Amino acid sequence: MIKKIDAKLADCRDLFYFDDSTSKLVTDRKADTRYLDPRPAVAQMRLDSLTGEWISVAAARHNRAFLPPAHQCPLCPTTEENLSELPDNFDVAVFENKSPSFGPTLAEVDDPNYAVVANLELGSVRDSIGRCEVVVFSPEHLGSLGELPVERVRTVVEAWAQRTEALQAMPGIRQVFPFENRGQEIGVTLHHPHGQIYSYPYVTPRTAKVLASIEAYGPNLFADTLAFEQAGERVLIKGQHFTAYVPFAGRWPIEIHMLPHRHVQHLGQLTDAERDELASIYSRLLKAMDKIYDSPTPYISAWHQAPLVEGGENVRLQLQITSPRRAADKLKYLAGSESAMGAFIADFPPEKTAAQIREVL
Ligand SMILES: [Zn+2]
Repeated sequence: MIKKIDAKLADCRDLFYFDDSTSKLVTDRKADTRYLDPRPAVAQMRLDSLTGEWISVAAARHNRAFLPPAHQCPLCPTTEENLSELPDNFDVAVFENKSPSFGPTLAEVDDPNYAVVANLELGSVRDSIGRCEVVVFSPEHLGSLGELPVERVRTVVEAWAQRTEALQAMPGIRQVFPFENRGQEIGVTLHHPHGQIYSYPYVTPRTAKVLASIEAYGPNLFADTLAFEQAGERVLIKGQHFTAYVPFAGRWPIEIHMLPHRHVQHLGQLTDAERDELASIYSRLLKAMDKIYDSPTPYISAWHQAPLVEGGENVRLQLQITSPRRAADKLKYLAGSESAMGAFIADFPPEKTAAQIREVL
């Protein structure tokens, strides 16, 4: 069984260890003995009154570590020379981000209208309440999630699922988003294999669009999308509980989606059997990403989960892996049409992308 151990960092941030089911690690973990400065004040959200979108202005993030070498890595287990964020050894560790984009302050009362823009007012601001956590996939400084054993990926899935449930229960949280940025090309600032979980105080713009599509189409949008994709020629893996495919209207040179066959809104609602299969399929997909070319492919792996608002119950858990890599030595950049207008021009037919990925699965 995967074991969870609760701990605290020196500045009272939460730290959770998730030990593999066959872990040999001892339950007693060393305490964090560092002297730490107080955490930065909560960031501010400003309203873009033209689009109705919140922009979180997190100035403290500017000073964070940028690609430190292994002997100064904040995600490696602590040694005498390197007092890191992880005071002891671990399999998977989750802790609160020191300089978060959202939080550390949470809502005092859970006001569902905290960040709802009913009347657009110029100059609207709110505190960026919420929470950001770091998920460290391995104590090893080098490597990637795809290279780790499936057992470890299963532990990561368990951490995502349990943290999703805990974060959703915190006051003021409207959406919980586990994700991984992999590769320097994507803007990663730490090489050590890790992901993050953002908990937003509002429904993100992408999810707001999904809610509008459900409103227009009906509550079966996800079930029908799954059936449509399963009948198409872009299916990558069809398991007992999940189907992975390249979407009909994929935007990126490499784009993979995966949906559960059962309507679940978030990772926390998956059964043990579903979590097992998810870990195994996800591991295969990540391995395939690195086999498409001779070197590892940068990617963003995003777990879309239902927002905690009216209508959210019709949103299904969905994985989206995207990469801007369009050739061994070429990246797609978001240029005028995409950046300024949000209007995507795809460079490849998704059917071709599907054939390319299937070759290395
Ligand atoms: Zn490291």
